[in-house]
Amino acid sequence: MKVYMSVDMEGITGVTHWDEVEHNKTSAYIQFQERMTKEVVSACKGANDAGAKEIWVKDAHYSGRNILSEKLPKNVKLIRGWSGHPYSMVQELDNSFDALLMVGYHSMAGRSGNPLAHTMSSAKIDSIFINDQQSSEFFLHGNIAGKLGVPLVFVSGDAGLCEEVQDVSPNTTTHATMVGVGDSTISIQPKESRLAIQKKVKSALSGDITKCIWDHPDLFSLEVKFIKHQVAYRASHYPGASLIDAKTVHFETHNYDDIMRFMLFTV
Ligand SMILES: [Zn+2]
Repeated sequence: MKVYMSVDMEGITGVTHWDEVEHNKTSAYIQFQERMTKEVVSACKGANDAGAKEIWVKDAHYSGRNILSEKLPKNVKLIRGWSGHPYSMVQELDNSFDALLMVGYHSMAGRSGNPLAHTMSSAKIDSIFINDQQSSEFFLHGNIAGKLGVPLVFVSGDAGLCEEVQDVSPNTTTHATMVGVGDSTISIQPKESRLAIQKKVKSALSGDITKCIWDHPDLFSLEVKFIKHQVAYRASHYPGASLIDAKTVHFETHNYDDIMRFMLFTV
C-alpha cells in the first residue's frame, strides 16, 4: 500500500496563534513544529500498522519546511518546499497512490472554528465556492484526489473542519484536535491526540477505503471572493474568468486541474 499524507499546521493539536506557525525561530514555533512532527509520526505509525509499504509526506504549511525529517519512519519520503505545481498541498499525488490522508488541516475562510481559519491565503481570500459549496483547503485538494480516484480516508484538524468533512465526505474518518472559540482554542491533550491519530489511521486504512472515493462532477463552477477589489480585478483577466461584482471572480471548467491552475496564478 502506497499512502500520501498532506500536512498543514493550523489544525495541529492546540495551535492558536500565528506566531506558533510562522518561521521566526521563537520557542512558540519550535514547540508546535515538534508537535506537528509527532502527529505526522503517529499518522505514519497508524499507516504502517495497516500495512503501508511506502508513505509520501507533503509538508504543506507556509514554507513547506517545518517537519523534522529525522524523526520520521524509514519508509517515508518527505516533500519539502513548493514545486509550483497547481496541485499545491498534494503535489506529486497521482493514481499510483492507494489513499490520501490529511493531517493538521483547518477550518475555511469565512467561517469560525479556528482562530487561524483561512483558505489558501488569509491576506487575499474572503471565501471560495465550488459548485455552490463553500470550500476549504480540504475540499479544494480533496477534489484532486476525487479526479485521480484516490480515496480520502482520514482528516485531522479542528472540530469545525471535521464537521465539514463529515458533511462532504461522510465515509472519511476524522479526528478533532480542538474546538476553536473566537480567538481561542479548547484542545485535547497532545499525547492523547497522537494515540487517537495512530489508532484511527490504522482502522481507516484497514477498512473498505473505496467508499472514500469522491464523485467527480463533470463541470466545476468556481467563485472566489477576494478581500480587495484590486486583487479581484487582476484575477478577472485570467483566461475564461470574469467579474461578478467588484470583489468576486467567476471561473468555470470541465477539467478540475484548471481550477487549481486558476488558484495558482491568481492567489
Ligand atoms: Zn498552513
